[in-house]
Amino acid sequence: MKQMKTVTRPARTTQVLDFIRCELCGTQTQTPSCWSDYEIFHQDEVTIQREEGKNYPEGSGQRIVVDLCSTCFQNKLLPWIVAQGGAPRTEDWDG
Ligand SMILES: [Zn+2]
Repeated sequence: MKQMKTVTRPARTTQVLDFIRCELCGTQTQTPSCWSDYEIFHQDEVTIQREEGKNYPEGSGQRIVVDLCSTCFQNKLLPWIVAQGGAPRTEDWDG
């Protein structure tokens, strides 16, 4: 015979992504893979980060991440890089 009893389990609290805010203009997105108007299968992602650490034997380090919207990437960061003498390249991607 199983004797059952009632127990109260406390609610669980977890951290979930609410939004990402562009460091420059304050625009917010809830979908990190799409800064522009969300449309299914559309991708508009900006990734700017630096990773430093050890890759052997266990691999660990620190990552500096800059959250930048696609508009600021295109209209502020790219022109600044070009003004510094840089030459950003465009590459095709798939997958
Ligand atoms: Zn922005």
